[in-house]
Amino acid sequence: MTKRFLAARDLHRLYQALVQGGYEVIGPRVKDDAIVFAPLNHIDELPWGWQEQAEAGRYRLQHTAGRRAFAWNTGPQGLKPWLFQPEQVLWRADNTEHGLCFRAVEPSPKRLAVIGLRGCDLAALAIQDQHFLDGPYADPFYRAQRAQLLIVAVNCARSANTCFCVSTGDGPEARAGFDLLLDELDAGYLLQAGSDLGAAMVARLPLRKATDKQVSEARALLAGASQQQRAMPGEAELAQLVDRLDHPRWQQVAERCLACGNCTSVCPTCFCSKQDTEGDVRNRQLEQVQRWDSCFSEQHSYITGKVVRYEIRHRYRQWLVHKLATWQQQFGRSGCVGCGRCIAWCPVAIDLVEEAQALLADNPQEGKHG
Ligand code: SF4
Ligand code: SF4
Repeated sequence: MTKRFLAARDLHRLYQALVQGGYEVIGPRVKDDAIVFAPLNHIDELPWGWQEQAEAGRYRLQHTAGRRAFAWNTGPQGLKPWLFQPEQVLWRADNTEHGLCFRAVEPSPKRLAVIGLRGCDLAALAIQDQHFLDGPYADPFYRAQRAQLLIVAVNCARSANTCFCVSTGDGPEARAGFDLLLDELDAGYLLQAGSDLGAAMVARLPLRKATDKQVSEARALLAGASQQQRAMPGEAELAQLVDRLDHPRWQQVAERCLACGNCTSVCPTCFCSKQDTEGDVRNRQLEQVQRWDSCFSEQHSYITGKVVRYEIRHRYRQWLVHKLATWQQQFGRSGCVGCGRCIAWCPVAIDLVEEAQALLADNPQEGKHG
């Protein structure tokens, strides 16, 4: 697809085009020592020169001499909180003289343009679309906000130590699901439209044709980012995790795991939720509130009077086997897009890739039955 070039000094023109198009712009910003997606009032608020150093159980920002806005890879959140909100009131009820009166809560979407999403984020978005939009019970809140979204994605020019999107086939190049795609070079940006909306934005910008040298430079950055990555076993191998349900590794990991649910909160594909009814039916309003939940919470497996996954090893096993193996039967692909967030944000440095590799390295059940 044709790439055009926007000089670095003209990046504010892209921001202005989005604002003039009626969008609230959401972009990466440095907040609480991490890169987060938040409303962007000016391109000066982008994380110029910032890069993350991510390891298992560790995430630190570092300011570099470089003058790039997208030199980082991920922060603790992708797009998930903007579409599937951590807390959503579903309906309200008032106690009136005629009895309980129920009121629907209507979605109130905003016209949002999100800048800086990566290939892994777009792959996660495609999975969340499948979960929240396909089938007979589409989520009306997700659907309304999704319809108002414009996505400006960025190809990764480096990989963090926790990234493995090459193994999952989701990065470091963003291949689909964007309206506009940027490659960041020192001199400026290569731009590619991925939709009519994106093409309309491109038409408002002072662009020139990208030179062969600029296109080669962008390809070299992508190749370098790919080479820096570690590898997750492929999907066929991961599907064999269902044969490892009695592996001693589950107990070993459970001795470290705090069941805090950080991994599921930061995971861009996790979608579990619970509902709470709040208020006092006698004299106050009732609210039905949907909140993010986690397969690491004990109550998440409460079924007809019994918690089914009562030990942490059962919950860790549920997370890993669902995410990497049974998800394939459910959605046609693994539920992992290789972003590495669950690895960096696990307080006890449990590493999903290491766990999968250890579980697949041998199969104690084979010895038992063989
Ligand atoms: S694996 Fe880590 S982040 Fe996930 S629940 Fe256990 S301790 Fe928390
Ligand atoms: S399982 Fe971990 S690495 Fe995979 S998509 Fe979720 S947060 Fe990212």
